[in-house]
Amino acid sequence: MTLKFFNTLGREKKEFSPIDKSGKNVSMYSCGPTVYNYVHIGNLRAYIFVDLLKRYLKFKGYNVKHVMNLTDVDDKTIRDSQKEEKSLKEFTEFYSRAFMEDIKALNILLPDVMPKATDHIKEMVELIERMKAQGKTYEKNGTTYCKITEVDGYGELACLDCQQLKANADGRLNDADEYEKDDARDFALWKAYEEKDGDVFWETSLGKGRPGWHIECSAMSTKHLGEQFDIHTGGVDLIFPHHTNEIAQTESATGKKWVNYWLHNAHLIVNGEKMSKSLGNFYTLRDLTTKGYDPRSIRFELLKTHYRVQLDFREDELKQIPDTLNKFDEVISKLNSAKSGETNIDCKKFLLEFEEEMDDDLNISGGLAVVFDMIKEINKSIDSDGIKNKEEVIDALKKLDSVLGIMSFDAEEIPEEIVSLADRRLAAKKERDWAAADKLRDEIKSKGYEILDDKEGYRLKKA
Ligand code: AMP
Ligand code: ZN
Repeated sequence: MTLKFFNTLGREKKEFSPIDKSGKNVSMYSCGPTVYNYVHIGNLRAYIFVDLLKRYLKFKGYNVKHVMNLTDVDDKTIRDSQKEEKSLKEFTEFYSRAFMEDIKALNILLPDVMPKATDHIKEMVELIERMKAQGKTYEKNGTTYCKITEVDGYGELACLDCQQLKANADGRLNDADEYEKDDARDFALWKAYEEKDGDVFWETSLGKGRPGWHIECSAMSTKHLGEQFDIHTGGVDLIFPHHTNEIAQTESATGKKWVNYWLHNAHLIVNGEKMSKSLGNFYTLRDLTTKGYDPRSIRFELLKTHYRVQLDFREDELKQIPDTLNKFDEVISKLNSAKSGETNIDCKKFLLEFEEEMDDDLNISGGLAVVFDMIKEINKSIDSDGIKNKEEVIDALKKLDSVLGIMSFDAEEIPEEIVSLADRRLAAKKERDWAAADKLRDEIKSKGYEILDDKEGYRLKKA
């Protein structure tokens, strides 16, 4: 089976083949958050997508080295740390910790390396010096710029040429000067110190100042993954200018093709509109958990739409998700207590079908449909003549969940006192003493448990 990804570079689905000759190791970089605030659920959608991608690569048997940076120096971090009268470090460390808490709560696997921009100033300067040595930069008033007219193939990722051609075809952009103006998009690699930067500056061979945003990612990714690696991710808003400029910098410094697969997630919007504080539709994870939504439901909501499809987030929909997730919990709890029976569930078939769907650019809706079909079949078999290959079924569900990260396999510890009440209730039912049985059910409920009748007698779960 062939794994394919939609590669923004070239705008087509392409078979995935890693650089590593053994074919086993995959290197991947994701643009991380700018740590000046709590991230919003749109940002978290981007990281849930990365998590799904990484988990699926592992499911396919690859070893993945994943690097995700923290942008801890830029205009916003400097501006807001000053507003709060905190040092840049103290300020950004607070939001870095908050970010770690958010991704852990959403069961997102931690990256192998999480470099901070401020720890990589030396590497950034070295990269700019390499560009400079090749005539790809110029300096003006202490700021070093990238000279894009000197960069071969500038804008290929963003398809700037195609856009120009398209625009020309429309007859709207027929003035060549219009495109010439793109030279104005030369961007800062190293920014000269300004008063408003306060105590945030570095004295380097490029002068006193601080790095531009784009150079941060080029330096951190090549330091930790090498001058060529497999996958780079981010939201669609990063295609231009951020990723376009990252490519320009890195490839002009190294002279090599940098990244083979560029994967971008579509945005999350809210009730059909862009999320913004002024519209009052801006959510952080904390906003939602404070309202009582559980992180597992939020994970599922962010996961279940294909990453390249815009996700229209509606708070109402979150309320329905626990019912869906209960299906997982119930089937696992039933499997744990089911006696062995006659039917063999064809786990291999379900796993293969899941893989076939996911191989197609992470087609999560197809993948989830397979998982729900499997659950239906498990339930049907338990309720008729029982399952013969129970252990294999549990293992297959675990394998599927290594990609989804939403099931819970820990058998719930039910206190003995509750089990004994449930046994007494079962005995009362057998003696047709319904009043006693109802009383015992109420007592169990008052202690926080729910009793569900089934073929074996009963099942207990936390209410
Ligand atoms: P930032 O901190 O703004 O650089 O954003 C961090 C990540 O979140 C980037 O990959 C962005 O492309 C992504 N992102 C920002 N807004 C949204 C959104 N509304 N939906 C999905 N991804 C987003
Ligand atoms: Zn980046």
